[in-house]
Amino acid sequence: MTGARSELHADVALANRILERMGLSHAFGHASARIPGTDTFLLPTRRSPGLAAADNLLVIDTEGRVVAGDGEPNSEFWIHARLYAARPDVGGIVHAHPPSCVCLTQIGEPHRVVHNQGGVFAAGVPEYSRIGLVRSRELGDLLARTLGGGVAAMMRGHGITTAFPDVRTATVAACYLEESAALQLRMLAAAGGDASRIRVFTAEEAAPLRDQVSGSVARRAWEYFAAVAAATPLGGGQRL
Ligand SMILES: [Zn+2]
Repeated sequence: MTGARSELHADVALANRILERMGLSHAFGHASARIPGTDTFLLPTRRSPGLAAADNLLVIDTEGRVVAGDGEPNSEFWIHARLYAARPDVGGIVHAHPPSCVCLTQIGEPHRVVHNQGGVFAAGVPEYSRIGLVRSRELGDLLARTLGGGVAAMMRGHGITTAFPDVRTATVAACYLEESAALQLRMLAAAGGDASRIRVFTAEEAAPLRDQVSGSVARRAWEYFAAVAAATPLGGGQRL
């Protein structure tokens, strides 16, 4: 195992634990990373992301075949397989079930940019409106088409998927998206449910904020989420 490969294993395991510790998922959800330069990716075995470890990751290809590792993959591995197939630019994917994002989908409110970190999603977050789990190649392809060239999709009554050049960024962005959705719900409640009263950022205002998921800002966010994951017991998660 090369040094770079072991660092990637560590990142994938940590990303999964962050999803659970930050309250984006509990028993379900998963983060993956493409093995650079290949059509394969690292994904945990079928257990809570909070239990992910660097030594129990599987190597799966974009056709959905487990090519290395022991154990059964998470049942929605098709999300990862088909998104990596459709998007050569993507190196990290998160699929989680964060509650505020699920709430937004179920009141028919699209994601809106209402705070700085939400600027990452200024181009819009499309909705995958089909309910139920993504347990087939066809549904994985459908989700990939919904996401298109974007960075995230809301999944009605289900959760979210984020897709970025690396797993750290995909994880930080997933945390931002849930924080953004939680704030949007609070604003809607404070405004008596009248979405027109929310001072949504314009495209021009939001555009410079895409740096919230790159460079030193993203490193700082990852450092923090990683420290929280290390200091928080399983099931003792934060809520964004
Ligand atoms: Zn799911």
